Amino acid sequence: MLLTVSTTHQPATDLGYLLHKHPDRVQEFKQSFGTVTVFYPEATQERCTVALMLHVDPVRLARSRAKNTPDFSLAQYVNDRSYAASSLLGVAMADVFSTARSGRCKANQQLADSAIPLEILLPVLPCRGGADISRRLFEPLGWTVEAEPIPLDAAMPSWGDSRYLRLELTGTVRLADALNQLHVLFPVLDESKHHWQGPDEVDKLLRSGEGWLAGHPEADLITRRYLGRRSGLTRMALARLAELGDELEEAIEPAEDEEVLQPQEKRVPLNAQRHDAVHQALLDLGARSVIDLGCGPGQFLDRLVKTPAFSRIAGTDVSTRSLQYAARRLRTDRMSERQAERVELFQSALTYEDERFAGFDAAVLMEVVEHLDPSRLEALERVVFGKAVPGAVIVTTPNCEYNALYEGLVGMRHPDHRFEWTRQEFAEWSDRVAATYGYRVERRGIGDHDEELGNPTQLAIFTRKEGNDD
Ligand code: SAH
Repeated sequence: MLLTVSTTHQPATDLGYLLHKHPDRVQEFKQSFGTVTVFYPEATQERCTVALMLHVDPVRLARSRAKNTPDFSLAQYVNDRSYAASSLLGVAMADVFSTARSGRCKANQQLADSAIPLEILLPVLPCRGGADISRRLFEPLGWTVEAEPIPLDAAMPSWGDSRYLRLELTGTVRLADALNQLHVLFPVLDESKHHWQGPDEVDKLLRSGEGWLAGHPEADLITRRYLGRRSGLTRMALARLAELGDELEEAIEPAEDEEVLQPQEKRVPLNAQRHDAVHQALLDLGARSVIDLGCGPGQFLDRLVKTPAFSRIAGTDVSTRSLQYAARRLRTDRMSERQAERVELFQSALTYEDERFAGFDAAVLMEVVEHLDPSRLEALERVVFGKAVPGAVIVTTPNCEYNALYEGLVGMRHPDHRFEWTRQEFAEWSDRVAATYGYRVERRGIGDHDEELGNPTQLAIFTRKEGNDD
């Protein structure tokens, strides 16, 4: 199994820093199912290519399996795994390039944060659903996709195509994003699951999918296929993705194993309900200028931009990557001059004073506070309520009491949450902040109401007390 990644970013050999693998060396890494070799077939200033070759050892693979594996047959020993890229390649790549996937690079952090020209080649890739599905998965992420079906036998064209593709992806993408996308999408493209799925698989999916999966038009399909036949996990992941991101479309393509999935209830995803509630609250407040603090990849900004009542809109986040997604979503490059004056995106940290936060009728902190270390929360309170002093502040955050109703969820709703509050804790926090900074506060719930546990999301609307204008 072979995967190559090339760049023409100059000096191209910087790829070695990003991957934490020296271009002059051939390195081997043992996996439970085989051996990975990493080497650079070309490494010049102009162009550099890294190759990752996985040699699967079928005997070790068979022995490393969980006992309840469904395929205990000769197929374990006689199969295509030595030749075709598959979910195993995804697992191996994820492991060998784990630091690169995290986006950390001591030698050159700026480069690790930047989108660079990349070409990714998979000479043989099993792909359920053919070339079309590979385009549906990679094109929305900004890749140009060249997918050629491989004939069953080149000498016998009448036999038709095999289930393999030659796949080439070209794009300007941050390397960590590219590797995380491949990590998730290999098993999605592949025909069968090759590794055991535990409950932490959902966390892995959300982590690797950070910044791109929730907004992907095929998020539903990707989640179902990634989690294979584990319908409980799939439901949990979809619920948690809905927490994070875009409206999930109904299952677009029924997977072959669809019958194992319970019929999904038709309901409005929680994040859509959250957007509705905050949007309505802003309209009720009569806000004209709004700043979305911690806007993420910009789903809510998009809603604001489409609402003519808002004459000035700003979005800010600490993550440049999220801002890039937001810019793409809002098509800032194609905005008219008037529109460009109305909408502004900028990078910032909410724990540091910044005059660009000031002068808005309303500020939104949607699902943001729980991403801060509790020790940094006071800094955010001071910066937002004490210094920026918007006319109103709308805060949403999970109600952790409700988590008991998420099947299979242990811990918090998202791996990146530093805390999640009960209703009582949120009430105490918001009362204290309101009293300290001269605001009134009103609290509501968003999402399905449970008699005992309340609503999944809690909302607080802070409005500045009159006579408080200095
Ligand atoms: N508001 C969006 C995104 C929520 S995810 C939504 O509701 O969909 C939380 C966001 O907060 C992430 O995009 C993260 O990058 C951002 N964030 C976390 N800590 C931050 C900080 N200190 N300063 C600015 N943004 C921060």
